[in-house]
Amino acid sequence: MTKSASYQLNSRSIAEATKEWMTKRGVTTPQIAELVMFLQKDYYPGLTPEECEAYVEAVLTKREVQNAILTGIQLDLLAEEGKLLSPLQEMIENDEGLYGCDEVLALSIVNVYGSIGFTNFGYVDKLKPGILKKLNDKHDAACHTFLDDIVGAIAAAASSRIAHRKQAEREGHIGPPLD
Ligand code: MG
Repeated sequence: MTKSASYQLNSRSIAEATKEWMTKRGVTTPQIAELVMFLQKDYYPGLTPEECEAYVEAVLTKREVQNAILTGIQLDLLAEEGKLLSPLQEMIENDEGLYGCDEVLALSIVNVYGSIGFTNFGYVDKLKPGILKKLNDKHDAACHTFLDDIVGAIAAAASSRIAHRKQAEREGHIGPPLD
């Protein structure tokens, strides 16, 4: 296969494609922010939904995160269309418990703000609150084997970002904006 001669990428188009595909697959920023609120409300009583949304947006600006989202959604779509090679097709289509690459891909998102996101990632994966419950509905014809972990990972990464930022605030650093 030859590579496209018109190969051209820019950061903005990748960010836009990511947003567009998340929306097409039924996931919105407020829904992810709800997970962040669920994870962090007991630690930061003054935390608002708007603040959580801003943290989620900050996570979504990271290229590593966008890459993981686009890759995961693509694999979910190919599974829905029955276009993967067997036995990968069956494993992804049925969200096979021993497959595990969906979680591994999502960890590249959790890692963006360091390892403190791991606990939160495991926690929402176990409890599946809000949008995660919907994505895990097996009666649905859609396949979200990758997307559910990705959404949990974005919430976990945003939670880590909150922890880092609040620490900086306590120490009196003004810090950069939500990078
Ligand atoms: Mg999964």
